[in-house]
Amino acid sequence: MKITSIEVFDCDIGKRHKDMAGVNPILIRVNTDEGISGVGEVGLAYGAGAKAGVAIIKDLAPYVLGKDPMKVEAIWENLFRATFWGMSGGPVFYGGMSAIDIALWDIRGKALNAPVYQLLGGKTNDNLRTYASQLQFGWDEHMAILLKPEQYAEAARYAVSQGYTAIKVDPIQITRTHSPYHKREVVQNYFGLMLADQVRMGEERIAAMREAIGPDVDIICEIHSFLGTNAAIQFARAIEKYNIFYYEEPVHPMNAKNFAKIAQNTSIPLSTGERSYTRWGFRPLIENQSLAVVQPDLCLAGGITEGKKICDYANLYDATVQIHVCGAPVSKAAALQIEATIPNFIIHEHHTWALKPGIRELCIHDHQPTGGLYKVPDLPGIGQALNDDVVKTYHAYTIKA
Ligand code: MG
Repeated sequence: MKITSIEVFDCDIGKRHKDMAGVNPILIRVNTDEGISGVGEVGLAYGAGAKAGVAIIKDLAPYVLGKDPMKVEAIWENLFRATFWGMSGGPVFYGGMSAIDIALWDIRGKALNAPVYQLLGGKTNDNLRTYASQLQFGWDEHMAILLKPEQYAEAARYAVSQGYTAIKVDPIQITRTHSPYHKREVVQNYFGLMLADQVRMGEERIAAMREAIGPDVDIICEIHSFLGTNAAIQFARAIEKYNIFYYEEPVHPMNAKNFAKIAQNTSIPLSTGERSYTRWGFRPLIENQSLAVVQPDLCLAGGITEGKKICDYANLYDATVQIHVCGAPVSKAAALQIEATIPNFIIHEHHTWALKPGIRELCIHDHQPTGGLYKVPDLPGIGQALNDDVVKTYHAYTIKA
């Protein structure tokens, strides 16, 4: 079997759904001379970088076209070592490698008529515990910007009524009046120390959610790296009494010593991963043992090939894994395959975007959890396919051998 072409779909969702402006998954389909195709995703659906994610596939394609897609490990290693920049990386480069790798695993599964989890060692988890993620944007089909603690409480109550036993919220991303994120601004003093009223704002939202859902539902507190180390400790101390399951990206991950300092100064377990790539990127954070939960994004960290190695590496230090999922249904499908397999799985992320029509319509299968649990699809490959009626409206280009 040989790879004959790669199609790239630049899914700028705002073109079809105005309330999703700025959400931009990049999907690819790798085709072969035997009629088997595989799908992948570049994990740059948010922030700046999506268009670079479209372009990196064009640059990597010559290293892949004409190759045997069954040689997944050899192709990964060649992309890493023969491309010069593969051995230093970054989200755009590794996002491209990840998309190709996931597509090759999808082809591999279809060629062998097996779901990818069977090729990775079989299931250790049949029903994946799942949390409702990013409730500051609401929990239904429509994008919302929640301001008041009562709104946070209501979103949490609604998710729990659907069977979720865990939720995630960023309580400081939206200020008392607006979303700086959507205005492409930062809150400057978050890097230093938070003002008393900013701490109170975040604490009131967490308190309202805890009050609404009772003591037995887990709350994950997300920070999106908005804080500096000292502010992160300051805020952690304010919310510790609400029994937080884990504290995600309190600061950015580029200095692992900052994570160690936060870990030494709070009782809340720490997590990070979406801004780290490959085993080498995760190494300082795993080895200084500051993380309880490692969160690689398979569409950024190096695909399924590298993602599985990162999960096993975390296991060496008794860290658990929640794959980071914040993109199109292709990223979701890849995550489910690995999470079904690894023994150190802790919980699956179901993002509020995964409820939105603009995301769900991109693929043929609409895999959703039931009662806060995910069944892993038993279809060959990663168990997902592009919906051509929709993705062809976003078609960017096709690269042929
Ligand atoms: Mg996050």
